[in-house]
Amino acid sequence: MIINKVNAKSIITKSNIPGIDFVINPYIGCQHACIYCYAEFMKRFTGHFGDSWGEFLDVKNYNWEKIQPEKYNSKSLLLSSVTDPYTPLEAKYENTRHVLENLVGTKAFVQILTKSSLVTRDIDLFKQFDNIEVGISINSLDDEFVKKIEPRASKPLDRLDALKIISESEIPTYVFISPIFPRISNWQAIIEASLSITNDFRFENLNFRGHNISRIMNLIKVRYPELVEYYDRIRRHYALWDEIEEDIKKYCSTRKIRHEIDFHHGGFSKIS
Ligand code: SF4
Repeated sequence: MIINKVNAKSIITKSNIPGIDFVINPYIGCQHACIYCYAEFMKRFTGHFGDSWGEFLDVKNYNWEKIQPEKYNSKSLLLSSVTDPYTPLEAKYENTRHVLENLVGTKAFVQILTKSSLVTRDIDLFKQFDNIEVGISINSLDDEFVKKIEPRASKPLDRLDALKIISESEIPTYVFISPIFPRISNWQAIIEASLSITNDFRFENLNFRGHNISRIMNLIKVRYPELVEYYDRIRRHYALWDEIEEDIKKYCSTRKIRHEIDFHHGGFSKIS
């Protein structure tokens, strides 16, 4: 793992994600090394062109006291968008914790999203926010599969256990079922395993991008050869996702589960 310290001019930056005003990325890179990661484009802008995603981490140096909590009142903040705020080395460097410590008092809506059970460390801080929600991202309960696609993230059940602890601390929680690997991700099983924790589920499809197609297709060829033809079709014909969306809507509506579908193929988001 290549670790660098880099000086950051700013730590909270304007977002172009729909519904999110600002994003906070305390690191450049992400140790979780998910094979499908969409943030890998960051390599191009940060001097990591030849480095493997997941094998470097730039730890941002910042004067945390420059953060002005009141500046973000009534805005929405996402922590994080192109890294995981609880990447394993957060345990050592605590950049995410520094951000939160200095944001206390804001009237912003703060959204945390992670694949790490380290998130429970900051419950004491989450409790000090008026408007915060903490989510975990998960797409399978199969440890072996998850180890292949998200090699350094927490095990799925460890993530759910962490969310349970946070929820029991009376902090609003949600489960982000993302990215859905069609015919592999058993999203119904994830919902059933999480319903005692939260009633807030969000869904995102698997996005095939130039840099991740070969990694995803190689995995499918080795582990799910019977799905190769289907994956070849769905990566070209996004209309096939409509069937999955309909299944999710029907399943959640019948059970009165709050659901938000963030399938990106032309960009839409539906909340029920
Ligand atoms: S946790 Fe998120 S940012 Fe990190 S590698 Fe995985 S998808 Fe990318």
